[in-house]
Amino acid sequence: MELRYKSTRDSELRVSASEAILKGLAPDGGLFVPEKMPVLDVPAEALKDMTYQETAYAVMKQFLTDFTEEELKDCISGAYDSKFDTEEIAPLVKVGETYFLELFHGATIAFKDMALSILPHLMTAAAKKNHVEDEIVILTATSGDTGKAALAGFADVEGTRIIVFYPKNGVSPVQELQMTTQKGSNVDVVAIHGNFDDAQSGVKAIFEDRQLAEELGEKGYQFSSANSINIGRLVPQVVYYVYAYAKLLANEEIENGEEINVVVPTGNFGNILAAYYAKQMGLPIGKLICASNENKVLFDFFRTGTYDRNREFVLTSSPSMDILVSSNLERLIYLITGEDSGKTKELMEGLKGNGSYSITEEMTAKLGDFEAGFATEEETRDCIRSIYQETGYVTDTHTAVAAHVCGQYRGKSGDSGKCVVVSTASPYKFAKSVMTAIDGKYKTEEDLALLEELRAVSGIEMPQAVKDLLNAEALHTLECDSKQMQNMVKSLLNM
Ligand SMILES: *Cc1c(COP(=O)(O)O)cnc(C)c1O
Repeated sequence: MELRYKSTRDSELRVSASEAILKGLAPDGGLFVPEKMPVLDVPAEALKDMTYQETAYAVMKQFLTDFTEEELKDCISGAYDSKFDTEEIAPLVKVGETYFLELFHGATIAFKDMALSILPHLMTAAAKKNHVEDEIVILTATSGDTGKAALAGFADVEGTRIIVFYPKNGVSPVQELQMTTQKGSNVDVVAIHGNFDDAQSGVKAIFEDRQLAEELGEKGYQFSSANSINIGRLVPQVVYYVYAYAKLLANEEIENGEEINVVVPTGNFGNILAAYYAKQMGLPIGKLICASNENKVLFDFFRTGTYDRNREFVLTSSPSMDILVSSNLERLIYLITGEDSGKTKELMEGLKGNGSYSITEEMTAKLGDFEAGFATEEETRDCIRSIYQETGYVTDTHTAVAAHVCGQYRGKSGDSGKCVVVSTASPYKFAKSVMTAIDGKYKTEEDLALLEELRAVSGIEMPQAVKDLLNAEALHTLECDSKQMQNMVKSLLNM
């Protein structure tokens, strides 16, 4: 049976999975959600022996029902190949009592590769299936990692162009260099004067501009998104939760059916929402623990029922989580309203207008699967150092935020369930923050000057992605004000 997608702001609308991927965002500004949550129909006994690619097929076929078996398997094998530096794709590493699910073994060494290495394949298959002749223009706002992963995925993919906007002073030096050195005849990278939220709302405004969409159509272009608002990014992210569970079973760390907790360093709420989808499909997940940095808008939301972005935007050492408007929360809000698109729309308009909204007690009662915590900058540093001193394992700053929150949760809840901490980036991406946390003496060094030290300390081989940067040439120097993004897009497309 075909699974169709509806908009969080209009339950009447129905599109196929491939149409939802092509569009990115619903025309009413809502996000696409499956009309009904599919069920994981593979027994744990079978999952246990599956490769990452086989697991990906078992999960994704339940969501992307209008793709044929051959199409989907081609997408999967094209994505999860030797671009990853390990055949496991997403290794689960036990460190002390905690399991780290390492999602940074892809081409750009952050977890965005897990979805963005397959999205271009899904997008081109979807375009064929829907007889799209237009060139697809991928517009992306990035807090640092999505941008590079999307650029790497879409570079020189026929029938597509990609334009990435990043906050000029809001990404790490390695992240910036990764983007500005990207090759490809169809790629553009623009630094904006503003923060990630400015970039994201600028991109959303461009998507919602009907007149621009018409002008674009006349020129033979249509927009789509590589941000996690695209359901084509969320679905591949469900896979690694299933894979991690199967690995725990295979390694005899858990009994079949035993619930595990997952701790997710959160920004736009995409990764943790994928875990929630996995749970809804039937995967035995106990608590979903949302970890924030000092931009703790989600922590406050889970504690008080009020989402309030009216606060100072803090630049932290975990820049990919420096976000005050977590787009994917809308999909969770929609579920806890009882799939009421009118109510969801009202709340989201409150967010746009006043910067805040509050949910009802009835809705709050449906959030029992979630826990939340946050780490200050000091706690993040302390966590990196103490894990290193106790075990020799080196985590990046984002993963450390989650590891800190994991410890906090264990301490206060007394819950002895197994915890999987989602590791979202390689420490090489944030070399200076990581090395300074381990030893204050590195404080005055530059990121790139610390790579060799990091190798010596961590024993992790320098990833190819980092080696490539050392000699690469910066190709992109465009900058614009966050209010000028639409004009920038038009000029890049010669409109
Ligand atoms: C994007 C990102 C996050 C946040 O993930 P969301 O899906 O936006 O919540 C966390 N850590 C790293 C390293 C990231 O790149």
